[in-house]
Amino acid sequence: MSGALSAVGRVLRESRRFVVAAHERPDGDAVGSTLALGRVIETLGGRAVLYNADPVPEPYRFLHGADQVVSAVEAEFEVLFVLDCSEPARLGPGGAELVARAPMVVALDHHLTSRSLGQLMVADPGAAATGVLLWRVFRAAGIEIDRLAAEALYVAVLTDTGSFRHSNTDQEALALAAALVGLGVDPARVAREVYATAPGGLELMGRVLSTLTLHLDGRLALVRATDDMFRRTDTVAADLEGFIEFPRSVAGVEVAALLRPLDGRTVKVSLRSNGRVNVAALAEKYGGGGHHNAAGLSLDLDPAAAEALIEAEVEGSLGAPAASRSGAGSPAR
Ligand code: 5GP
Ligand code: MN
Repeated sequence: MSGALSAVGRVLRESRRFVVAAHERPDGDAVGSTLALGRVIETLGGRAVLYNADPVPEPYRFLHGADQVVSAVEAEFEVLFVLDCSEPARLGPGGAELVARAPMVVALDHHLTSRSLGQLMVADPGAAATGVLLWRVFRAAGIEIDRLAAEALYVAVLTDTGSFRHSNTDQEALALAAALVGLGVDPARVAREVYATAPGGLELMGRVLSTLTLHLDGRLALVRATDDMFRRTDTVAADLEGFIEFPRSVAGVEVAALLRPLDGRTVKVSLRSNGRVNVAALAEKYGGGGHHNAAGLSLDLDPAAAEALIEAEVEGSLGAPAASRSGAGSPAR
């Protein structure tokens, strides 16, 4: 592992033109990691095109470089960094082409469902966030980071640990946060920016949470968002961030799911587990992925059929004998 970390450090020092990309519909870890690495490349004297298939969500736009993220790469480059995922398709519609075009691919991923990708890869599901993997690289390579990069890394670890509450919150995540505060990050300011609610956000939350239903003797909780809810509250899907923690927190619930329309006939499903069910394995069966306790997938089904499928799958996982529940209790988020 440490060999790979130093090798990534060498690539950072020895190359000049980079593309830094992360998964589509980026979360705080994807955005924070992209911007932190972009800033580090900038301070090392290189040039980085920051790529994402989707816009940077409002809560992360205060970060340095957020306004530089583009959804098309025209210029030639030497190295493509793939962050917080490891399948070209997770980069969005242009992902496969971008990976195919890259003279060199370096992937950093902490998902349980990560795949082997590129010439160099750092994959560790034991890392709380992709930001933690970047920190390991910077330390192994002796690369010092400034406050702007530190702020982006802080957002990565803050959001992927659910504000240091999820089971992936470990000594390394907290030590990283402390080190970043030492570099000038103001935790209260970042928390205000990241967790500010959109004007229609609470109304959206009310509407979404009022759809709560319990299934399987209260062990599965479902909530739904509809396009109509977004329209009426002038919000977007990114404003759903964190809502799934409420159904997850209901006493007796093992799995929570949030369903929303993606486009046309596709339903996007977010899954959270309280430990017994490996939702990454469930999601992977249908082309999705994630962590033991947090995963997602897309289903080309109508909402009712999607719900029935999730219920059947969760029922199957809950009914399975303990020995076949691979990874139960693992420290993933
Ligand atoms: P969320 O429910 O917050 O969107 O995602 C939870 C976790 O599952 C995140 O780590 C995210 O990267 C992962 N995830 C969500 N949707 C997908 C998907 O469609 N495919 C894969 N591979 N991972 C996903
Ligand atoms: Mn992540």
